[in-house]
Order: sequence, then structure tokens, then C-alpha cells
Amino acid sequence: MKTGWSISALTGAVAVGMIMLPALAPGDSEKEIKPNGKGIGTLFNPGNGNGNPNGQAKGKPGGGGTTGNGISYHGGPVMLGTNHIYYIWYGNWSNNSAVQILTDFAKNIGGSPYFNINTTYYDGSNARVSNSVTFGSSFFDSYSLGTGHTSLSDADIRTIVTNAITSGLPNEPNAAYFVLTSQDVAESSGFCTQYCGWHTYGTIAPNNIKYAFVGNADRCPSACAAQTTSPNNNAGADAMASVIAHELEEMVTDPNLNAWFDGRGAENADKCAWTWGTTLTASNGSKYNMTLGGLNFLIQQNWVNASGGYCAKSF
Ligand SMILES: [Zn+2]
Repeated sequence: MKTGWSISALTGAVAVGMIMLPALAPGDSEKEIKPNGKGIGTLFNPGNGNGNPNGQAKGKPGGGGTTGNGISYHGGPVMLGTNHIYYIWYGNWSNNSAVQILTDFAKNIGGSPYFNINTTYYDGSNARVSNSVTFGSSFFDSYSLGTGHTSLSDADIRTIVTNAITSGLPNEPNAAYFVLTSQDVAESSGFCTQYCGWHTYGTIAPNNIKYAFVGNADRCPSACAAQTTSPNNNAGADAMASVIAHELEEMVTDPNLNAWFDGRGAENADKCAWTWGTTLTASNGSKYNMTLGGLNFLIQQNWVNASGGYCAKSF
């Protein structure tokens, strides 16, 4: 979601006037608001009163109406070609299976039927987002901003990205950098109370760098995790996988917050946030809806920009 408000979805309050704001000025970010647990009635999925959680009838034009698929193109670039994922593990991730689970996820989301949904998005030259995403590498940052400074600001997140690039990660415009914070770390602009993750962009010389924040959902499972028993027996990490997927698909289709979003300001993943489609039950009782590289995950759906537009797990 392209946000300019500061309302918690928990309250059920909806600032319609703010939702209608157009794209934000450069420097603002896209923050994912936490769910209300039902997927309907949140700022992302206000509902249209007739049971359609996306607030618009399937098959009818929505947003600006330029595609007829419920999402509109606003002229900015998309991320073309092969994109790389870089993880920046901030804080204390030692002895946490999240590192293995989420790295495995990043290595296998590219080329999947799920990520192929993003190929329905294109730029002004009709060049389409590809289904080619590869994992680059990880950078471990053990509290570079101070062990006593565990409430990070948005500016701190940018500093962490800059430090990681300065300290060894490649500086690439065709990449998505994720700052993944450990359970003890807060994000003061609203992690756990207003969002579970967000993405934005900024110049880190010489490139326009696309980066995201995703915090450990173990900090607030009732807000940011769909289930406390999860497919890979790490509820925080499994919940983070869904948020990472959400932010990644928004980054490739709306990297500078001026490409693809609807009339409410919702980017592709926002339109399907916290919806899962058909789920299966794992042996430990948890739910999952896709298998990537041998691991099961419960990943929120994404908006297909075709056939009138709809939420799906594959295309
Ligand atoms: Zn979003």
C-alpha cells in the first residue's frame, strides 16, 4: 500500500480520504499494514460489501481503469530482467532456522508459478517483468547501530542498507535488498502496530537501490503471523516468507512507487494481502498453500493483471 496515514488496522478505522491520495513523493515508502486476521475489513481489503475482499468486482475495470484488470499503470519503471535478492540479517539471528528457511525461499521463488504472476506487469514499452529472480547473498549485521539501540527508524533501515553495500554487498539497481530484523528489534514507524513490512527506494551511489524492511514476526505473532504452528516449525520465519514475497512482488512491479497500483493506492500484493486460496494441512497441523524447493510455505496471494484481475497463487 502507498501510505500517508498512520492508522492501525486493528482499530478497524479507515481513513478513506488518505487512501485516495495519489502516489507519494519520492522518499516515501510503501508500508504493509497488518491484517485484522480475517483478510477483509483492513485498509488493504476494505471490502465492497458483497463479499469480494478486493473491494471491486472481478472482471470490471478498477483503479484508473486503464487495464480493465483492477490495477493501473502510472508510467514509472518496473524491474526488468533477472533480479537478485540480498538479505541483510540485522541483530541476533544465531541458532535461528530462519536463516536457512528464508534463504531457501529466496533461492526458489524465482521461476515458480507463483512469481510468474508478476509477468502480467509491464512498462511503457510493453516490456514485462520476468520470472527470473535469483538469490545473491546474505550480509550479517550484528547491531551496527548499537546493541542498546533496538528501536530502529526508517532512516536507520536505510543506513543499514548503505552500510551493508559499503561493507560488501554488491551495489545493484536490479536487486531487492531486505533488512530482516531479529525479534528483539523494533521499527519505530509502526512495525507490529501498523505494518509487518514495507518497501521503498533511494539513491545509494551510484544506483537507485530498492530495499525493504521485514521484521521477525515472532515479535508480534498475533499481528504479523497467520499461524503459530507453521510448516517449517519456525512461525516467525514462515510468516516473514509471506511478507518477503509480498514486498518483492511490489518491488518488481512498482519499484519507485510510480508504476502499478490501483485507485486506492494498493499495489499488486496489497490487493491480495493475507488471502491464501486453497490450503493444505502439514503433518504438524499447520496450513500451507505452496511448495518451493522442497519446503512448504503459506504465502499470500498476488494480483493477476489479466482476465479482469484476480488474486491467485499461480499464473
Ligand atoms: Zn504492500
